[in-house]
Amino acid sequence: MSDKSVKGIDRRDLLMASIATVGAAAALAANAGAANAEDSATSSSAPAAGAPSATIYVGDVIQGKKVVSTLDVNDLEPGKKHLLYFQGVEMPTGQHWYVSVTVAKGAKPGKRGVLVSGVHGDEMSSVHTIQTVMSQLDPAQMSGTVMAVTDVSRPAMEGMQRRWPNFGRGTDLIDMNREWPGNENGVTAASRQAGLLFNRLLRPNADFAIDFHTGTTGFDVAAFNIGGMDVPEIKAMLELYPVGQIFDNHVYPSVLHNAFIDAGIPSFCPEIGAARVLDLEMISLFVEGTMNVLKHHGIVAGPMGRTGKDVDVFVGNSAFPILATAGGLVEHLVKLNDKVEAGQKVSIQRDSFGEVVAEYASGVAGEISGLRSDAMSEPGNPLAFILFNKPGPEDVGGYPE
Ligand SMILES: [Zn+2]
Repeated sequence: MSDKSVKGIDRRDLLMASIATVGAAAALAANAGAANAEDSATSSSAPAAGAPSATIYVGDVIQGKKVVSTLDVNDLEPGKKHLLYFQGVEMPTGQHWYVSVTVAKGAKPGKRGVLVSGVHGDEMSSVHTIQTVMSQLDPAQMSGTVMAVTDVSRPAMEGMQRRWPNFGRGTDLIDMNREWPGNENGVTAASRQAGLLFNRLLRPNADFAIDFHTGTTGFDVAAFNIGGMDVPEIKAMLELYPVGQIFDNHVYPSVLHNAFIDAGIPSFCPEIGAARVLDLEMISLFVEGTMNVLKHHGIVAGPMGRTGKDVDVFVGNSAFPILATAGGLVEHLVKLNDKVEAGQKVSIQRDSFGEVVAEYASGVAGEISGLRSDAMSEPGNPLAFILFNKPGPEDVGGYPE
């Protein structure tokens, strides 16, 4: 390695260290007036571990909702629903991206569940699922707490698009489900938003957590859950959903449900059909499953609804992707949830003359879990995912959320 490159690295390290120091100093200043600033030494060096633990009301009220910058649900009055805004990262104008928080605080103590949506901004059925669950809760009858956070990636949701528009070098689009657990002193607003939310709202209030998603714009998925069936607490929750598929895979780091798991909190990720629309029929299955989970944890009383045992649930540990090799119009020969054999033709593609330019077959026996819904495709786009069982060690693979 030459002197020049060594110096280059040193400069970069110095720059990063300066950014971290400035960020930590600013965080320290902001927290100086907080009631529980006794832990300031810890919070200056490690904001994640030293984030304040008691609720901080910043003094603002927006549309009748009090604004918090840190929340401990234990501080809220029992037997009631509480509607709050959480103060997220600042926009370029200096105002904040506020995130909507609904807490159903049971009259009696118990477990604390966290329901999250809007990590991707185009996944509306996930928002509606959580809203429906919250509407069915009566805090006076509950033992424990359910907190809903429905619009995590606020600027992405404003445009109903998957990624967070970041303004660092022109507009970058950041996939917020590759940012967790985030960094309060990170070099993008999305990373800071993730850090603030994870340290001061989500992690401290969760005994278990569910991060709801759908397919993405242009790519529909079946109703399924993603989670590690080798973790007993997670397997128990996955099996309580009356949906047709389970993707038994730990997928990759940096997604929100894995950040929860790394913090010792059981978590998984439902996938509720197509992006941009409300699929009310599919939503009702995930509402029923989530109410089952709340009953399983003793938060809500009453008999279980339908579970995975009542449907023909297919469990696979891998997702086989079919990628387009040509440009053109895509026609699928199968539907979501269809069983396919290895070698079975799944999709064809025609050029502008109507001639078939590509035919695509499944490489595995399994079930269709995702299909491209945008009819035009260029080479490299995913056209289909087939859920299947790979013998031997699992790959850390992609999945179609
Ligand atoms: Zn998503």
